[in-house]
Amino acid sequence: MDTQYPKTIDEAVSALSDGATPLAGGTDLMVEVNFGHRRPDHVVALRRVDELAEWDGSTIGAGVTWRRIELEGPKALAEAARTVGSPQIRNAGTIGGNVATASPAGDGLPFLAAVDASIEVRSATGSRSIQWDEFFLGVKKTALEADELVTGVDLPEDLPERQAFGKVGVRNAMVIATVCCVVTRELDGLTRVALGSVAPTPMRARQSEEMISAVARPSESDLAEFARLVAAEVSPITDHRSTAEYRRHAAGVLARRLLGRCLR
Ligand SMILES: Cc1cc2nc3c(=O)[nH]c(=O)nc-3n(C[C@H](O)[C@H](O)[C@H](O)COP(=O)(O)OP(=O)(O)OC[C@H]3O[C@@H](n4cnc5c(N)ncnc54)[C@H](O)[C@@H]3O)c2cc1C
Repeated sequence: MDTQYPKTIDEAVSALSDGATPLAGGTDLMVEVNFGHRRPDHVVALRRVDELAEWDGSTIGAGVTWRRIELEGPKALAEAARTVGSPQIRNAGTIGGNVATASPAGDGLPFLAAVDASIEVRSATGSRSIQWDEFFLGVKKTALEADELVTGVDLPEDLPERQAFGKVGVRNAMVIATVCCVVTRELDGLTRVALGSVAPTPMRARQSEEMISAVARPSESDLAEFARLVAAEVSPITDHRSTAEYRRHAAGVLARRLLGRCLR
């Protein structure tokens, strides 16, 4: 495997235009290599590109690790970071790698969906900003071209004060999500609900958002109706981790609990 070690984004994107595969923390890519699913001949290692590890206000560089997000991130994203793998994985794995892998179970992705984040990308010919719902196209499919590098994720300047992340899995730690969810609520009641592992891409439960945003002080029956709507809106599959029915049920229960945390 031929490896390049650029120090700048310009050098990294130039390697991409020569057909190189980006390698950040390697916690997804090297698993694929070890299983023989991918065999890149030419790799561009991003760890020495300091610009990618910059965190400039509301823009988180693609090379920022989960460990740093755990310590410095907005509340729900930090909560998500805390659940990613083990300390070793969180010290190596990056938000850019999570975004580029685009696993339906990527724990960082519901937060990006909840706050309407954009993904910043750059190639040798220019840069563009892609809204999250135009970036994630399917299971591990994104709008990223082969010669494009994710340089960061751009969050809105004003994030809702009340926000919560939760994850359901078969264990409490080192687990891929059966369902993961972010709920945010503004002081005027505007509520956003984003989920992972229940559709090919991260998704928003927009009917549930509309219903609960209109209720200033949700009663128990409003919360029950909210959970029912969330469960109805998701479109999970049955796989080795869970049945679709359980995922649907868990999505409603989890979203309701997280909303409860935002209402406290
Ligand atoms: C034991 C273990 C536990 C895990 N647990 C979790 C978990 O709980 N939750 C979770 O969400 N994930 C988990 N993961 C998956 C992984 O850790 C995350 O997805 C992580 O964020 C990947 O980041 P990375 O920097 O290691 O990416 P890499 O493995 O380096 O790259 C991943 C993919 O993205 C591409 N890429 C990387 N950076 C860029 C860039 N800047 N621009 C364009 N393409 C890029 C690579 O070419 C590759 O295709 C786990 C992995 C392991 C091995």
